[in-house]
Amino acid sequence: MSVIIDESCITCDACMQNCPVNAIVDDSNNPTGAKRYYVQPEKCVECVDLFDDPQCAAICPSIGCITWDMPFSKEFDAHFLNEELYKLGSKDGVVRSPAFREKKYRPEIAMSERGVKKEVQVAPSEKEVG
Ligand code: SF4
Ligand code: SF4
Repeated sequence: MSVIIDESCITCDACMQNCPVNAIVDDSNNPTGAKRYYVQPEKCVECVDLFDDPQCAAICPSIGCITWDMPFSKEFDAHFLNEELYKLGSKDGVVRSPAFREKKYRPEIAMSERGVKKEVQVAPSEKEVG
């Protein structure tokens, strides 16, 4: 999904308002049924070419709630199709899996840092100065 929202979401709505590509839905529209906001992996582009950082995580008040997930690329097709964490959208009967619709992602985020609950949000003290 590239980024994923976990159970510490407090349903404040900030991320949904801040996503430049409308990739986030609220808890009442979460296709998995979980009571938290949901990033649609088939729409998220990790804010590549739009912002320096993922804007959902930048504004989220629940630190650690949004973490890096696998890229939405063909390599991880099975991951997105088989995990209960996701319910991919479809169009004309075709599921928008990575095999059909790869999305942009940040190659600088190593695979070893994805899917292990690594926080997307960077604390100000960790950001490079200058
Ligand atoms: S990383 Fe960017 S594109 Fe993806 S859900 Fe967050 S704000 Fe939207
Ligand atoms: S900004 Fe964070 S806490 Fe608020 S709805 Fe989004 S994921 Fe949940």
